[in-house]
Amino acid sequence: MNPSQQTPPQQPADAADRRQPAVSRIVLRSAELGQGLAIRRALPTRQRRMVGAWCFLDHVGPVRFERAEGLHVGAHPHTALQTFTWMIQGQLLHRDSLGSEQLIRPGQVNLMSAGRGIVHTEDSLPGASDLHAAQLWIALPPAQADSEPSFDHYPELPTWQQDGIACTLLAGSYAGHCAPTRVHTPLLGMDLATGLAASTTLELNPAFEYGLLPLAGVLRLGAEGFRDDEFVYLGQGLDRLELELEAGSRVLLLGGEPFEPPVVMWWNFVGFDRDYIAQAQADWESGSPRFGRVEGDQGRRLDAPKLPWSQPSGQP
Ligand code: MN
Repeated sequence: MNPSQQTPPQQPADAADRRQPAVSRIVLRSAELGQGLAIRRALPTRQRRMVGAWCFLDHVGPVRFERAEGLHVGAHPHTALQTFTWMIQGQLLHRDSLGSEQLIRPGQVNLMSAGRGIVHTEDSLPGASDLHAAQLWIALPPAQADSEPSFDHYPELPTWQQDGIACTLLAGSYAGHCAPTRVHTPLLGMDLATGLAASTTLELNPAFEYGLLPLAGVLRLGAEGFRDDEFVYLGQGLDRLELELEAGSRVLLLGGEPFEPPVVMWWNFVGFDRDYIAQAQADWESGSPRFGRVEGDQGRRLDAPKLPWSQPSGQP
């Protein structure tokens, strides 16, 4: 090919097709949710804080409840983020300080915008036998950080089949589909599930960074295999991704434009500086009307742990 100034950079189609992304494997850490339910946390970790505005990702279950104990998370506050629940199996009842009371079932999304402050509880129904879900947070951009709180339930999302894989669009747009979920930065969320072994090519946006979380089975990218104990960070600049799923696999694809400015996360708060977080914590501890309360929360109010940094002592 003529290497003149007018010629675009050489990109042999064959090589591009075979190119595999340089992936980072991030081992999930274990954490607890509610009253001692062990879950696996993919974001944030030391290696990777965010993917786009996605700043938190818990893989909950799959778990079978032996003694009908279920999942119970008492009243706790959030700021400057959206909580995003993707239900795969089982049900949860959401209640919040706006008076929302919403049961979420498999195939549905609950999306709560905390804005300047909200409180919620999450509970299994009596006799619940199982639970499998992804719980995510989306950082709100500074212009929305102090907005009015809101809650939305999305009973139906766009679904389609691609190469034998059942795709559900959770956020953003893909291949002519648009998710109804209201987000405030360029984002993608997509669930891919297959009963039989399958392979496909995903069209990606090079301006986005991407990550993949196997939720069941085995995900293969070229020669590399991944199970549900690892998060795969793909970075930015990809326009496609070839993947294979073994029979009975499910994977969550997340993407977004790298988020600016840096966020500060502590406990259930997101903010843009430590003073904001410290104020949110003080407001929660003092019972400020900023957060309101969940009717009928039966006093199940979670205490914030001590701030991990020392408070200003008069120094600038
Ligand atoms: Mn929460």
